Amino acid sequence: MLYGGIEAGGTKIVCAVADENQTILEQVSIPTTQPEETLAQVFQFFDQFSLDAMGIGSFGPIDIQTQSETYGYVLATPKKGWANYPFLPELKKRYDIPMAWTTDVNAAAYGELKLGAAKGKSSCIYLTVGTGIGAGVVIDGHVYQGIAHPEMGHIRVKRNPEDTYEGTCPYHKDCLEGLAAGPSLEQRTGIKGQNLSEDDPIWEMEADYIAQALMTYTLTLAPEKIILGGGVMNQQHLVEKIRRAFEKEMAGYVVTPPLEEYIVSWGLPNKSGILGCTLLAESLVS
Ligand code: ADP
Ligand code: ZN
Repeated sequence: MLYGGIEAGGTKIVCAVADENQTILEQVSIPTTQPEETLAQVFQFFDQFSLDAMGIGSFGPIDIQTQSETYGYVLATPKKGWANYPFLPELKKRYDIPMAWTTDVNAAAYGELKLGAAKGKSSCIYLTVGTGIGAGVVIDGHVYQGIAHPEMGHIRVKRNPEDTYEGTCPYHKDCLEGLAAGPSLEQRTGIKGQNLSEDDPIWEMEADYIAQALMTYTLTLAPEKIILGGGVMNQQHLVEKIRRAFEKEMAGYVVTPPLEEYIVSWGLPNKSGILGCTLLAESLVS
């Protein structure tokens, strides 16, 4: 069996082919430009293989309603040329094989559940803190989707009284993403997140915003594990700060597993998404 995976991000699209052991045999990274130009390169890569199934984890928002006329389309994205683009239909036109279609973060949550930090569990949340903030949810071993996919990066958080920054979210300004994604760190300090010192007081505030979100997720979904990834989480000290802030905010109300086990860094750094895609492909045919 050969499984194709497409992890589509706003800046690059990673395409990979995995065998039945989920070993990646080949992988390419294609810049996300205009859809037609980008897909031509995606086809060029996959045309070399005879795939049994494909899994696509796309930047969103996307239409995941199978009954909808625009099922498989990318919806209202600011990414030029991609709004209302029939991404999945175009892939189906080219390859007549089963295809799994979900968000990039749902795919990453699935990858972490099957082979990463949540291996052996049946539920987890994967949160990425990067250029944006997004979360994927797996419940009972399946990616969770309802009338739409979760958009857990845009929840409200209580503003730190000392934080005067208006927020970067083009829709809500000071939602979680607006206050805590990578660009907001840079806007407040004038320094890119990767260049900020470990003792900068901004990290306590960052940890508090993320911890508030994790508390909301725990109260609403009670997953077995919460996994943190994305560029900003390269700050190794941040996960412990988040645990301490979570403990304080939760004030003992919900009993969770020890926080060192409950809130963890990704087990498949930079690979959860693409492996989640090839694993989702496998789930369709095995
Ligand atoms: P994307 O979200 O675009 O897929 P990333 O997950 O790499 O990409 O996130 C990019 C964001 O993460 C940028 O805002 C960048 O400044 C920030 N970032 C990258 N590395 C670090 C780091 N070591 N510490 C803090 N922030 C970082
Ligand atoms: Zn928002």
